[in-house]
Amino acid sequence: AKERKGNNYFVFNASLEAHEMKDITLETKLYDALRLEQLALHYQPKIDIATGKLIGMEALLRWHDEELGFIPPDRFIPFAEETGLIIPIGEWVLQRACLDVKGWNDLFDLNLRVAVNFSPIQLALPNIIEMIQNVLHSTNVDPSFVEIEITEMSMVDFNDQLMEKLAIIREMGITISIDDFGTGYSSLSYLKNLPVDTLKIDRAFIMEIGTSETNTNLVGAIIHLAHAMNLSVVAEGVEREEEWAYLKSCGCEQAQGYYFSRPLSPDLFFQYVLTQP
Ligand code: C2E
Ligand code: CA
Ligand code: CA
Ligand code: CA
Repeated sequence: AKERKGNNYFVFNASLEAHEMKDITLETKLYDALRLEQLALHYQPKIDIATGKLIGMEALLRWHDEELGFIPPDRFIPFAEETGLIIPIGEWVLQRACLDVKGWNDLFDLNLRVAVNFSPIQLALPNIIEMIQNVLHSTNVDPSFVEIEITEMSMVDFNDQLMEKLAIIREMGITISIDDFGTGYSSLSYLKNLPVDTLKIDRAFIMEIGTSETNTNLVGAIIHLAHAMNLSVVAEGVEREEEWAYLKSCGCEQAQGYYFSRPLSPDLFFQYVLTQP
């Protein structure tokens, strides 16, 4: 835009710079947060509906900045995806989660499984399999204690390559779960052929349980559909007794939500495990 003259140029340029400046600050901050170990994982318990027992947890990323305060993942993850920072961050998340689950399982003699959220950007990386293998190796975690959650939305650009990667990850012994199920555009024909183990029903459906017969039956239908495809089902965002009772009556395998526990810092999760019968 050098050849452009007059006020327009300067006005346009100044606002562009301000915008870029803001992003660069945030990018630097997020990069520093990763480097200085200022990112943290919190863990939300997952409950076996049939037994009421703790069977695992979802790792949820937390970022607290001294100036900006607490920044929710819904805001900084999309930014990390745009800038590519999700790649080192995602690797850190997997590493941290594997170390933590191994530590707790060894200490308490448990078989908890940790679920880690993967961004579609990570899955698209050519060396993603190698990255996962390296983390499994360096943390020495049993792969059956690790689950990967990928959003149904990331299936939008679903292709043979992705299918192949999922199959390899699964062969390693890692469980694969389709997150936010019901919010994307999955067609039944390819769902049936996906190398996945679990569907995770989005909270948007769970919160409608009891509001009308149609809404309630829809959740039941999703559970039956999953079972017909030999998939197990996790309900996300369970907040009320009524939701829990209905899910149980439908044979839904697992639930997660404020009804049981909010996401907990590692210290509080440790306390939570201690209180389990
Ligand atoms: P998600 O994977 O769908 O995670 C569930 C979100 O629902 C979490 O929000 C959790 O705290 C919240 N939640 C759990 N139970 C309840 C409930 O009973 N009621 C309500 N209202 N909310 C509940 P959070 O921790 O803010 O995370 C938001 C999103 O950020 C996640 O949605 C996930 O897409 C993304 N995210 C978080 N950590 C990571 C990560 O390590 N990597 C990637 N790629 N994405 C992440
Ligand atoms: Ca998730
Ligand atoms: Ca969700
Ligand atoms: Ca999600």
